[in-house]
Amino acid sequence: MVRAGGSLSVVSRPTNEPGPGELVVATEYAGLCGTDIQMLRGLRDDPAPVIGHEGIATVVAAGPGVRPEFAPGTLVAVNPTHPTDPGFLLGHNVDGLLQERTLLPATAVTGGMVLPLPADTDRTLAPLLEPLAVVRYALRQLHAFAPRTLIVYGDGVIGHLAVRAARRWLGSATRVILVHHTESGRAFSEAAPYRADVLCTRLDWARLEPGVVGALLATPRDATVFALESVLALGAEELAVDLVGGLPPNATTPLLPGIDLTAARAANCGGLPDPARIVTTDSADGNRVHLFGHRGVADRHLLDAAAELAAEPGRYRDLITHETDLEGAVRVMRALAGSRDRVIDGRRLIKLSVHMGAKQ
Ligand SMILES: [Zn+2]
Repeated sequence: MVRAGGSLSVVSRPTNEPGPGELVVATEYAGLCGTDIQMLRGLRDDPAPVIGHEGIATVVAAGPGVRPEFAPGTLVAVNPTHPTDPGFLLGHNVDGLLQERTLLPATAVTGGMVLPLPADTDRTLAPLLEPLAVVRYALRQLHAFAPRTLIVYGDGVIGHLAVRAARRWLGSATRVILVHHTESGRAFSEAAPYRADVLCTRLDWARLEPGVVGALLATPRDATVFALESVLALGAEELAVDLVGGLPPNATTPLLPGIDLTAARAANCGGLPDPARIVTTDSADGNRVHLFGHRGVADRHLLDAAAELAAEPGRYRDLITHETDLEGAVRVMRALAGSRDRVIDGRRLIKLSVHMGAKQ
């Protein structure tokens, strides 16, 4: 699937041969992510023509010098964000997984970005692996503040995964509030098998437990500051906020004087540093606020997410609402890029799974 001048099409291209240290992998299942849609809408300027940074694949060829753990036939996940080499951001500046064969450069292989998975891994859950790893990172950080209330802001796949994983990773005593973008989004949650304690579209109606409030902002880039301000306006005495969603450059809010929100989020990348950098400040109202964010995940987050999907597949499976092949994915992505509506084939889309297994 090749992106050119704002349009998408499926074309044939020659398969790369792996050079020294490189791997060629065959994608089995890949997911479509919110950042992919933003690229199609022209909101980001990532150069890679082939997108796709979430999925699992099988090694089909290994170049000279590659360690035997990556022998052909090995099932692997790829961590899309190299913590120290900005030249490897899979599906953004390196051609991604929405193609039959993907060349993984030596920096990804030697840098530990390619993770062998057990052969009995449920491949159909693969599109949830990377987003659940992001949630793992977020909830691990928030857990340190022992929040009594968790506000999950945003009802995309990250928000829904966070609600479901919070019971497992924060415990059952934390009250979970899911803030939806639209009433139809709230209706989806109402009908879902695992629900937050509170489902709302406006945060000011939600009741907080006494004690620390945690907030996980899983919002698109143009909505994160609004979400942050909505959470700050609740006036919790102590608040820990994870800016999972993106931010425009140099974003600020008058509610947190002197804080560069974008810099706070960018301080953590690919799981480094560990522990994560957290900014602690006082809000304009005099409340204590801990603020952080992160781009990408560490391998440990991906492996924890893989273990969680293996342990509790039924807790997450219904979030893969649509499955299609490469041609079908082009159709869905065109529809999504052209509107803010998330209804495809008469159903709300949470996660699209692209199955590439047919033409091996
Ligand atoms: Zn993504």
